[in-house]
Amino acid sequence: MTPGNHGLPYGANSSRPMRLEDENAMHVFWQPFLLNGCFLMYILRENRSSCNGAAHKRMKISELFAQKQPVVSFEVFPPKPESPFETVLEAVEALHNLKPAFISVTYGAGGSTQNKTLELAQHIKEAYGIEALAHLTCITNSPDATEKILDEIEARGLENILALRGDPPKDWNNAVYKVHATDLVKRIANRKKFFIAGAAYPEGHPEAASPQEDLQHLKEKVDAGAGLLITQIAFDNDYLKGFREGVARAGITVPITAGIMPVFSASQITHICNLCGATLPPQLVAMLDKYSHNQDALQSAGIEYACRQINDLVAAGFEGIHIYTMNKPLLARAILSGTNLR
Ligand code: FAD
Repeated sequence: MTPGNHGLPYGANSSRPMRLEDENAMHVFWQPFLLNGCFLMYILRENRSSCNGAAHKRMKISELFAQKQPVVSFEVFPPKPESPFETVLEAVEALHNLKPAFISVTYGAGGSTQNKTLELAQHIKEAYGIEALAHLTCITNSPDATEKILDEIEARGLENILALRGDPPKDWNNAVYKVHATDLVKRIANRKKFFIAGAAYPEGHPEAASPQEDLQHLKEKVDAGAGLLITQIAFDNDYLKGFREGVARAGITVPITAGIMPVFSASQITHICNLCGATLPPQLVAMLDKYSHNQDALQSAGIEYACRQINDLVAAGFEGIHIYTMNKPLLARAILSGTNLR
């Protein structure tokens, strides 16, 4: 995703596009689970199958896009330093049973979760045999420090990196390392070991002087070696579709996977939009107003909204859907069940 510090059973999924009349049905269907959390317990119990020691082979994410589309992936974040690692492991265990093609793990540009990113990514790959995409930022790291992290990524058997500049931490002296993600892409590409993905901004990066200039820099990132673009959260598909057209006109041909986050609370969504600059379309604003005093109904409506967004993007031919799970398997599962993704 995703704001800087912030990243599907397929049992009951529909085989047809969701229609308007399904909205109420879905709302009623999910509400009891969302209300009492039982469904999460069910997921965790159901998924406590033997997953440890899953065979893991080396695979670059580019191979996944060459197989079946749309490629469905998840983003998770490592635990904060004060939280036990196990809290995230439970979430990842529940998520793995939803069979995402890959799971990306965020990296705190200035925080202290950096080692946890690699540990979690390695765990995802080794315990579940699911390809992991380790996020890596460069804004606070010297070139030497970056090289050491790349050594560690390699030593841990990870092969896929989302190369990011990152956001400067508060009080950061940005004269120290003035870098862009493209510099990191070049550094990683020099090793000839990794598949590299990059971030993209359907509404333009907040710092960009113009959408054209942003696209130009995106092209440089791809030319430097980024073979996949994962988009910032977008709640309005018109931005995603328009961006995709602009990318094609700019001569960028790598796959684009659309970053989708289900709305689950008004404060969450306001905070995220403030961080990443995503626009809230009028339907979403109306939804937030309508359910401002009913958290459970808002979650259900947020899931429905995300499902409609995804079905529309898949119909429009997007190669991938990247779900910002916020480490909440319940949300990811609900989304997969309500879409045509499986
Ligand atoms: P860049 O590609 O460097 O772009 C940043 C700005 O610089 C843009 O305006 C661009 O147009 C401009 N620019 C690029 N190249 C040049 C150039 N040569 N000259 C002048 N201007 C240039 N942050 C984290 O801290 N941890 C994470 O795990 C994380 N994961 C993310 C995942 C995704 C999918 C996304 C979309 C974002 C994520 N972020 C994360 C946030 C990201 O770090 C910020 O959005 C950051 O501000 C920009 O990173 P970038 O890699 O896009 O930077």
